[in-house]
Amino acid sequence: MPDMKSEQAKKFPLLPLRDVIIFPHMVVPLFVGREKSIAALEEAAKNNNELFLVTQKDASVLNPDREDIYNIGTVVNIIQMLRLPDNTVKVLIEGKYRARITDFTANPAGYWASVEKCVAADAQPLQLEAVMRSIKSIFEQYVKLNKRIPPELLMSISSITDPGRLADIIVAHLSMKIPEKQQILQAINLEDRLHLLLEKMQGEIEIINVERRIRTRVKSQMERSQKEYYLNEQMNAIQKELGQKDDGKTELQELEEKLEAKKMPQEAKDKARKEIRKLKSMSPMSAEATVVRNYVDWMICLPWDECSVDDNSLDKARAILEEQHYGLKDVKERILEYLAVRSLVKDGGKGTILCLAGPPGVGKTSIAHSLAESLGRKFVRISLGGVRDESEIRGHRRTYVGAMPGKIIAALKKAGTSNPVILLDEIDKMSSDFRGDPASAMLEVLDPEQNKNFADHYIELEYDLSKVMFIMTANDLGNVPGPLRDRMEIIRLSGYTPNEKLQIGKNYLLKKAIKHNGLDEYDLNVGDVTLMHVIRGYSKEAGVRELERLLSTIARKVATEVVTKEIPKGQKFVINPKQLKKYLGPTKYDRTDIEREPQVGLVNGLAWTSVGGELLHIEVVTVPGNGKIQITGKLGEVMQESAKAALSYVRTISGKLGIDPTWYDKNDIHIHVPEGATPKDGPSAGVTMVTALTSAITGIKVFQDVAMTGEVTIRGRVLPIGGLKEKLLAAKQAGIKTVVIPKKNEKDLPEIPNDIKQGLKIHPCDHVEQVLRYALNLSQPENFMKVVGLKVIAPESTLEVAN
Ligand code: ADP
Repeated sequence: MPDMKSEQAKKFPLLPLRDVIIFPHMVVPLFVGREKSIAALEEAAKNNNELFLVTQKDASVLNPDREDIYNIGTVVNIIQMLRLPDNTVKVLIEGKYRARITDFTANPAGYWASVEKCVAADAQPLQLEAVMRSIKSIFEQYVKLNKRIPPELLMSISSITDPGRLADIIVAHLSMKIPEKQQILQAINLEDRLHLLLEKMQGEIEIINVERRIRTRVKSQMERSQKEYYLNEQMNAIQKELGQKDDGKTELQELEEKLEAKKMPQEAKDKARKEIRKLKSMSPMSAEATVVRNYVDWMICLPWDECSVDDNSLDKARAILEEQHYGLKDVKERILEYLAVRSLVKDGGKGTILCLAGPPGVGKTSIAHSLAESLGRKFVRISLGGVRDESEIRGHRRTYVGAMPGKIIAALKKAGTSNPVILLDEIDKMSSDFRGDPASAMLEVLDPEQNKNFADHYIELEYDLSKVMFIMTANDLGNVPGPLRDRMEIIRLSGYTPNEKLQIGKNYLLKKAIKHNGLDEYDLNVGDVTLMHVIRGYSKEAGVRELERLLSTIARKVATEVVTKEIPKGQKFVINPKQLKKYLGPTKYDRTDIEREPQVGLVNGLAWTSVGGELLHIEVVTVPGNGKIQITGKLGEVMQESAKAALSYVRTISGKLGIDPTWYDKNDIHIHVPEGATPKDGPSAGVTMVTALTSAITGIKVFQDVAMTGEVTIRGRVLPIGGLKEKLLAAKQAGIKTVVIPKKNEKDLPEIPNDIKQGLKIHPCDHVEQVLRYALNLSQPENFMKVVGLKVIAPESTLEVAN
């Protein structure tokens, strides 16, 4: 038993510790295996159960010497000792106090050390208290961050008032390196110890925080890359499903290649490239990507630089026009002149634009088509009917959902060249509303000064339209805005006579119908008489569109018959008038429907609409009443006024007609223009109104094979009218024998084909009283006597073409 040197220095068996530091107040189990250590334990058991524990500087040293151990350790009490079967000892110890080694002995049996208790000098309680509080709060943070420390510990810590004890208990729970913990063990001065602990704890928290940040960053990075990987895989699968090209190229790569191969202005190319770059960073399934891809597609498909070479041969043009169109002599001449001038003038005769004006179905479109064909240019038709929005011409900005380029750019894409012939069909049907005026956009398109830099809202780049050849068509030039009309070189096409229709039907339309319905190998024969039946009985039009449709119906029905009855090739089909019912149904227009017997108050007028000439009946009845006047039949303003003017005129000649002036106060007059569904307007029904009123008031009948046209002044003068050819044609088709026209229109007669004039008695009149003489049936003496006061008794001139 070693003796004690002094009160302060006591001798204890020494147990060197590896990788652990025991602090005072700690109760910990230790497993002891080294022989010398076990010996120390046994010695301690004999020696009041007290023992000195000190940590080795290097844990790997098996038999440490003085310099291998720290200077300060802890004197502990053995609470329990248990020998385990494998000869190691488990011992439960409790730390007592710090002690410094003053003497060290190592012998083969074990280690001994004389140690002196380390006593802390007095410290300022206030300062200690302050540090303690911060230690406690920091420890609280630490516990929250470090999940390994049981939170109950906080409870016991909060009640500790001894600063040294607080530090020792806390430090025991910190996960610090051995040298750092030893530093705290060696800090005898309380203030030093607490500060050191505070510092270490803050360092620890900092480390834990950094660790945490790193961990979450790593985690989210992992998650992101995992997500990306997953999505990419999914995208690949989808692309495969959607049929990625076999050569492994993505759609984008293909787009890029197409763009690079395409000839286009640098500016356009740069813009498209930029859009493709944008596309790359977008999810291909997004709506936005579709918009961008669509745009790039447009840019690539537009013909920027592709041009066809013009063929300026007039002979060829003439041949094509002749081959594809019957008649239209003047029109063809005008077109050839236009082409001739174009080829002579340097800038191709820009500035004037052909406008083909006439009723539907007279061949405007097909003339324009032939023109394009003769020039060797591509042909595209833009229908302007019903266009009322500027953006239909100029496109929508890409910010709109479903935005598209305007009709002009779309037509160019369709043409595939930058110099096609573009037919602007039905320019008169364009209207404007709050969405902007399409006519002004059209002006820009047609103006050679401006159309070099045509800006479409969708394309967002300027496109040069100056190479395009524009041709317009219109039914009614009156509806074309003035500035547009100024740019036009107008070529008029009027309706066809039945004979012309017959020729067109026989030589063009029937052949087309046979070809389109696959009847080339059969002999479909529609004779002239049958064809005339079709023209007269089934169609009522200025052009031949309906006729074309009818012939195509016949051909289609024959084709169906051929297929269902398996008729062999070469079979002849002769269609005669009787069979028409089977193919086209019952006749629609009965030419005998006009009243043949003279009638009171019913007169045939002649009207001219944008679809051609028409017979216009006017009816007047009088009934006893009190002088009311009623006008019905959906008449336009001008026509209503002309009805009133006619009545005024008739009242002025009541004397000549033998009518008592008081008659008008005792009777009501009703003027009606039947077929109310068609709006009617214009002054040219003046003579018809006068005649109908006169007849109704006097009771003199009107010949029903007479038709008339002409504006009337209230003094009875007859003024000229328009559309004479169409009107005569309509009269002829309706089976009229006599036509009364204004004298001033006589000059137009030579230009009207004999075909139309044949069989018609045409009377030019300059006064309405003359008209009455032709129209009223004066064969009964009393009637004749009634109107004997009329100025003109005998017809002045009659123009009659012999049958
Ligand atoms: P529009 O453009 O004036 O309405 P289209 O050009 O569409 O008329 O003509 C309708 C049909 O009639 C077309 O098939 C066209 O070929 C034919 N057609 C019109 N006029 C003639 C003509 N003079 N000769 C041959 N076919 C014609």
